[in-house]
Amino acid sequence: MTIRRGISQAGVWLAEVLFPLFCLKCGAEGSILCSVCRAALSPPGFFACPLCHRPRAGGRACRRCRSDSALDSHSALAAYREDDIWGRLIRTCKYQYVSQAVLALDPAIAAFCRANPFFFGFGQPVVIPVPLHPCREAERGFNQASLVALSLAAALGLRVAPLLARPAWTRQQAKLGRGERERNVRGAFSLARGVSEAPRAVILADDVYTTGSTMQECARVLKAAGAGWVTGFTLARG
Ligand SMILES: [Zn+2]
Ligand SMILES: [Zn+2]
Repeated sequence: MTIRRGISQAGVWLAEVLFPLFCLKCGAEGSILCSVCRAALSPPGFFACPLCHRPRAGGRACRRCRSDSALDSHSALAAYREDDIWGRLIRTCKYQYVSQAVLALDPAIAAFCRANPFFFGFGQPVVIPVPLHPCREAERGFNQASLVALSLAAALGLRVAPLLARPAWTRQQAKLGRGERERNVRGAFSLARGVSEAPRAVILADDVYTTGSTMQECARVLKAAGAGWVTGFTLARG
Protein backbone atom coordinates (compact mmCIF):
# COMPACT_ATOMS: atom_id res chain seq x y z
CA MET A 1 0.00 0.00 0.00
CA THR A 2 1.61 3.26 -1.04
CA ILE A 3 0.58 6.88 -1.16
CA ARG A 4 1.41 8.81 -4.28
CA ARG A 5 2.39 12.36 -3.65
CA GLY A 6 0.49 14.90 -5.72
CA ILE A 7 -0.68 14.53 -9.27
CA SER A 8 1.16 13.42 -12.40
CA GLN A 9 3.74 15.68 -14.04
CA ALA A 10 1.56 15.98 -17.14
CA GLY A 11 -1.32 16.99 -14.90
CA VAL A 12 0.79 19.67 -13.24
CA TRP A 13 1.92 21.03 -16.60
CA LEU A 14 -1.61 21.13 -17.99
CA ALA A 15 -2.95 22.81 -14.85
CA GLU A 16 -0.25 25.48 -15.03
CA VAL A 17 -0.97 26.24 -18.66
CA LEU A 18 -4.72 26.45 -18.12
CA PHE A 19 -4.67 28.14 -14.73
CA PRO A 20 -1.52 30.20 -14.11
CA LEU A 21 -0.68 30.25 -10.41
CA PHE A 22 -0.20 33.35 -8.30
CA CYS A 23 1.34 33.65 -4.85
CA LEU A 24 -1.53 33.78 -2.34
CA LYS A 25 0.42 36.22 -0.21
CA CYS A 26 2.11 38.73 -2.54
CA GLY A 27 0.53 37.97 -5.92
CA ALA A 28 3.77 37.10 -7.76
CA GLU A 29 3.11 34.79 -10.70
CA GLY A 30 4.49 31.24 -10.85
CA SER A 31 3.38 29.33 -7.78
CA ILE A 32 0.80 29.25 -5.06
CA LEU A 33 3.34 30.56 -2.57
CA CYS A 34 6.50 32.18 -3.96
CA SER A 35 9.88 31.20 -2.51
CA VAL A 36 10.22 34.51 -0.62
CA CYS A 37 6.82 34.19 1.08
CA ARG A 38 7.38 30.47 1.65
CA ALA A 39 10.60 31.14 3.56
CA ALA A 40 8.95 33.90 5.60
CA LEU A 41 5.96 31.81 6.66
CA SER A 42 6.42 31.06 10.33
CA PRO A 43 3.63 29.06 11.95
CA PRO A 44 2.50 30.45 15.32
CA GLY A 45 1.27 27.02 16.50
CA PHE A 46 -2.14 26.43 18.05
CA PHE A 47 -2.47 24.17 21.08
CA ALA A 48 -5.76 23.35 22.78
CA CYS A 49 -7.51 20.45 24.51
CA PRO A 50 -8.89 18.20 21.73
CA LEU A 51 -12.33 18.08 23.38
CA CYS A 52 -13.20 21.35 25.17
CA HIS A 53 -10.96 23.48 22.90
CA ARG A 54 -9.45 25.41 25.81
CA PRO A 55 -5.81 26.45 25.20
CA ARG A 56 -3.39 23.93 26.73
CA ALA A 57 0.39 23.49 26.65
CA GLY A 58 1.26 20.97 23.94
CA GLY A 59 -2.45 20.66 23.11
CA ARG A 60 -2.91 17.97 25.75
CA ALA A 61 -6.39 16.87 26.83
CA CYS A 62 -7.26 18.64 30.09
CA ARG A 63 -7.97 16.67 33.27
CA ARG A 64 -11.74 16.97 32.85
CA CYS A 65 -11.72 15.74 29.24
CA ARG A 66 -8.99 13.12 29.48
CA SER A 67 -11.27 10.13 30.00
CA ASP A 68 -13.66 11.15 27.17
CA SER A 69 -11.07 12.13 24.56
CA ALA A 70 -9.60 9.32 22.47
CA LEU A 71 -6.99 11.83 21.30
CA ASP A 72 -4.35 12.46 23.95
CA SER A 73 -3.48 15.80 22.40
CA HIS A 74 -3.80 17.92 19.29
CA SER A 75 -1.67 20.62 17.70
CA ALA A 76 -2.01 22.77 14.60
CA LEU A 77 0.24 25.15 12.70
CA ALA A 78 -2.22 27.98 13.22
CA ALA A 79 -5.77 28.92 14.12
CA TYR A 80 -8.06 28.85 11.07
CA ARG A 81 -9.10 32.27 9.88
CA GLU A 82 -10.98 32.73 6.62
CA ASP A 83 -8.84 35.50 5.24
CA ASP A 84 -5.29 34.98 6.49
CA ILE A 85 -2.63 33.06 4.60
CA TRP A 86 -3.35 29.75 6.39
CA GLY A 87 -7.04 29.91 5.56
CA ARG A 88 -6.33 30.77 1.93
CA LEU A 89 -3.78 27.98 1.53
CA ILE A 90 -6.10 25.39 3.02
CA ARG A 91 -9.10 26.41 0.95
CA THR A 92 -7.00 26.40 -2.19
CA CYS A 93 -5.81 22.92 -1.37
CA LYS A 94 -9.22 21.60 -0.47
CA TYR A 95 -11.60 23.15 -2.91
CA GLN A 96 -9.51 23.96 -5.95
CA TYR A 97 -7.89 20.53 -5.83
CA VAL A 98 -4.38 21.98 -5.81
CA SER A 99 -2.09 19.58 -4.01
CA GLN A 100 0.65 22.18 -4.47
CA ALA A 101 -0.80 24.20 -1.60
CA VAL A 102 0.21 21.53 0.89
CA LEU A 103 3.63 21.12 -0.71
CA ALA A 104 4.09 24.87 -0.28
CA LEU A 105 3.64 24.32 3.45
CA ASP A 106 6.58 21.90 3.77
CA PRO A 107 9.00 24.49 5.21
CA ALA A 108 6.35 25.72 7.69
CA ILE A 109 5.69 22.15 8.86
CA ALA A 110 9.43 21.56 9.27
CA ALA A 111 9.81 24.79 11.27
CA PHE A 112 6.89 23.78 13.49
CA CYS A 113 8.45 20.37 14.18
CA ARG A 114 11.79 21.92 15.13
CA ALA A 115 10.04 24.26 17.59
CA ASN A 116 7.77 21.56 19.05
CA PRO A 117 9.60 18.27 19.60
CA PHE A 118 6.82 16.81 21.78
CA PHE A 119 5.76 14.45 18.99
CA PHE A 120 8.18 11.94 20.45
CA GLY A 121 6.52 11.91 23.87
CA PHE A 122 5.71 8.24 23.51
CA GLY A 123 8.33 6.26 21.59
CA GLN A 124 8.63 6.28 17.82
CA PRO A 125 5.18 7.18 16.50
CA VAL A 126 3.76 6.16 13.11
CA VAL A 127 2.08 8.90 11.06
CA ILE A 128 -1.38 7.91 9.79
CA PRO A 129 -3.47 10.09 7.47
CA VAL A 130 -7.21 10.44 8.11
CA PRO A 131 -8.59 8.50 5.11
CA LEU A 132 -11.12 9.76 2.61
CA HIS A 133 -13.82 7.46 1.27
CA PRO A 134 -12.33 5.86 -1.90
CA CYS A 135 -14.95 7.54 -4.11
CA ARG A 136 -14.19 10.97 -2.71
CA GLU A 137 -10.47 10.42 -3.13
CA ALA A 138 -10.97 9.31 -6.73
CA GLU A 139 -13.06 12.41 -7.41
CA ARG A 140 -10.48 14.73 -5.85
CA GLY A 141 -7.43 12.92 -7.21
CA PHE A 142 -5.59 12.97 -3.90
CA ASN A 143 -6.16 12.93 -0.18
CA GLN A 144 -4.98 16.18 1.37
CA ALA A 145 -4.47 14.38 4.72
CA SER A 146 -1.92 12.07 3.05
CA LEU A 147 0.01 15.08 1.80
CA VAL A 148 0.07 16.55 5.31
CA ALA A 149 1.15 13.16 6.71
CA LEU A 150 4.01 12.85 4.20
CA SER A 151 5.25 16.34 4.91
CA LEU A 152 5.10 15.85 8.69
CA ALA A 153 6.78 12.45 8.56
CA ALA A 154 9.59 13.82 6.36
CA ALA A 155 10.19 16.64 8.84
CA LEU A 156 10.30 14.24 11.80
CA GLY A 157 12.07 11.34 10.10
CA LEU A 158 9.10 9.04 10.76
CA ARG A 159 7.17 6.49 8.73
CA VAL A 160 3.76 7.10 7.11
CA ALA A 161 1.41 4.14 7.06
CA PRO A 162 -2.16 4.25 5.71
CA LEU A 163 -3.45 1.88 8.42
CA LEU A 164 -7.00 3.27 8.54
CA ALA A 165 -9.80 2.86 6.00
CA ARG A 166 -13.07 4.69 5.51
CA PRO A 167 -15.50 2.14 4.13
CA ALA A 168 -18.64 4.09 5.06
CA TRP A 169 -19.91 6.91 2.87
CA THR A 170 -20.62 9.97 5.03
CA ARG A 171 -21.90 13.44 4.29
CA GLN A 172 -19.29 16.23 4.16
CA GLN A 173 -18.58 17.46 7.68
CA ALA A 174 -18.30 21.08 6.58
CA LYS A 175 -22.01 21.11 5.74
CA LEU A 176 -23.13 19.85 9.17
CA GLY A 177 -23.66 21.29 12.64
CA ARG A 178 -21.65 20.30 15.70
CA GLY A 179 -23.87 17.45 17.00
CA GLU A 180 -24.54 16.10 13.53
CA ARG A 181 -20.83 15.83 12.78
CA GLU A 182 -20.29 13.39 15.61
CA ARG A 183 -23.17 11.15 14.49
CA ASN A 184 -22.12 11.43 10.86
CA VAL A 185 -18.67 9.88 11.36
CA ARG A 186 -19.59 7.34 14.04
CA GLY A 187 -18.51 3.92 12.79
CA ALA A 188 -17.17 5.41 9.53
CA PHE A 189 -13.59 4.19 10.04
CA SER A 190 -11.90 0.83 10.47
CA LEU A 191 -8.42 -0.62 10.32
CA ALA A 192 -7.28 -1.00 6.71
CA ARG A 193 -7.61 -4.42 5.13
CA GLY A 194 -4.96 -6.82 6.36
CA VAL A 195 -4.15 -4.69 9.42
CA SER A 196 -4.95 -6.40 12.71
CA GLU A 197 -3.20 -4.23 15.25
CA ALA A 198 -2.49 -0.52 15.70
CA PRO A 199 1.03 0.79 16.46
CA ARG A 200 1.70 1.78 20.09
CA ALA A 201 2.13 5.48 19.26
CA VAL A 202 0.37 7.34 16.47
CA ILE A 203 0.27 10.82 14.98
CA LEU A 204 -2.96 11.31 13.02
CA ALA A 205 -2.66 13.86 10.23
CA ASP A 206 -5.35 15.92 8.51
CA ASP A 207 -5.79 19.39 7.01
CA VAL A 208 -8.27 21.06 9.39
CA TYR A 209 -9.58 20.32 12.89
CA THR A 210 -12.96 21.88 13.64
CA THR A 211 -15.09 19.99 16.15
CA GLY A 212 -12.58 17.14 16.16
CA SER A 213 -15.26 14.44 15.62
CA THR A 214 -13.46 12.89 12.64
CA MET A 215 -10.09 12.62 14.32
CA GLN A 216 -11.61 11.44 17.61
CA GLU A 217 -13.38 8.65 15.75
CA CYS A 218 -10.09 7.61 14.08
CA ALA A 219 -8.33 7.70 17.47
CA ARG A 220 -11.08 5.51 18.99
CA VAL A 221 -10.55 2.85 16.32
CA LEU A 222 -6.78 2.92 16.87
CA LYS A 223 -7.05 2.71 20.65
CA ALA A 224 -9.49 -0.18 20.44
CA ALA A 225 -6.86 -1.91 18.28
CA GLY A 226 -4.07 -1.44 20.80
CA ALA A 227 -2.67 2.08 20.37
CA GLY A 228 -1.52 3.57 23.67
CA TRP A 229 -0.93 7.18 22.63
CA VAL A 230 -2.61 9.07 19.79
CA THR A 231 -1.99 12.70 19.00
CA GLY A 232 -3.47 14.75 16.19
CA PHE A 233 -1.76 17.20 13.85
CA THR A 234 -3.50 19.50 11.39
CA LEU A 235 -2.53 22.55 9.36
CA ALA A 236 -5.19 24.65 11.04
CA ARG A 237 -7.78 24.48 13.78
CA GLY A 238 -11.13 26.22 13.46
ZN1 LIG B 1 4.87 35.74 -2.48
ZN1 LIG C 1 -10.71 19.80 27.87
